[in-house]
Amino acid sequence: MRRKITVLPGDGIGKEVTRGAVEILETVAERYGHEFEFQYGEIGGQAIDNTGSPLPEQTIETCKNSDAVLLGAVGGPKWDNQPSHLRPERGLLKIRKELNLYANLRPISYYSSLSESSPLRKEIIEEVDFVIVRELTGGLYFGKPSERTTHDGKEAVVDTLFYQKDEMQRIIELAFELASKRRKKVTSVDKANVLESSRLWRETAEEIAERYPEVELEHMLVDNAAMQLIRNPRQFDVVVTENMFGDILSDEASVLTGSLGMLPSASISTQGPNLYEPIHGSAPDIAGKNIANPIAAILSAASMLRLSFGMEVEAEAIEKAVGETLDSGSRTGDIAEGQVRTLTTTEMVAEIKGAI
Ligand code: ATP
Ligand code: MG
Repeated sequence: MRRKITVLPGDGIGKEVTRGAVEILETVAERYGHEFEFQYGEIGGQAIDNTGSPLPEQTIETCKNSDAVLLGAVGGPKWDNQPSHLRPERGLLKIRKELNLYANLRPISYYSSLSESSPLRKEIIEEVDFVIVRELTGGLYFGKPSERTTHDGKEAVVDTLFYQKDEMQRIIELAFELASKRRKKVTSVDKANVLESSRLWRETAEEIAERYPEVELEHMLVDNAAMQLIRNPRQFDVVVTENMFGDILSDEASVLTGSLGMLPSASISTQGPNLYEPIHGSAPDIAGKNIANPIAAILSAASMLRLSFGMEVEAEAIEKAVGETLDSGSRTGDIAEGQVRTLTTTEMVAEIKGAI
């Protein structure tokens, strides 16, 4: 079966790391006899420069007409002072809406050869292996009204936290599905001691848990979760939470294992193609120098094979190749710590290719 993959390189190192990830996908296609067709689209700052829009219609069409989307990164200082409809990040928010991406999955796992770059003690970080599942479509980010106002004659402001129960159901269900294939534990994070939305979230989690008797459900308040991520991250398997809590916790979690350049993410659609992207940004400080770490993008491609195409063996082959490459001492600058020689982006890609 022929799979159509839309690649949106975007800005800065997005271009360099997606090029690497595409090469790895081509290697897998050759090695395992698959047919991947790559089509390219514009997004972010470069799309603004070329078309006047951070997400041209053409890009949306191309994405919808494909089996999966691989995104690099958007943004850069060049567009920082643009009016808001001409900001690269607009392209990102819009594509989430257009593709109905309701869940963002961030696996946090540890590569043993990188223990130097974690802020945690080796014996703690060694066993870290969990996934954060963040709701993407609701909550404070999209609530209306969201506005400046006045109250009792004084300046005031309102943001609205709005969720429909079915939005909670579908994301919590996804977390249980994931957990049932992993270590069978879901940690549902909320603020049920204060927020009504969190109380409905908790009830919903309890209802769904009844359908997954083999999966343990635990509730945790978000402030405690923020602390537990540092104190004992080994306790987590699947963490599920609403949009803003997830935004904050996933950034916190992403530094546990070391470099930003190592971590992939997957955004899951209600229907249509999922989107895969490294969690890092466009890194303008190192863009165009061929020194960015391509591993986050490459692991994002592995997630694509696993989640969109059901190619578990192929996904594992990529992950294993990354592990072996790191074990052999190969490092890009961001994870080099004390290393004498560091690899360029293209050299790192070539090593991983070789290992596959
Ligand atoms: P954004 O607003 O797009 O998220 P940011 O400035 O918050 O951008 P990044 O662009 O991810 O964050 O960069 C943060 C730092 O991490 C930069 O110094 C950058 O060079 C470094 N960095 C990010 N990704 C990589 C990578 N793949 N390889 C090496 N260094 C990276
Ligand atoms: Mg950032």
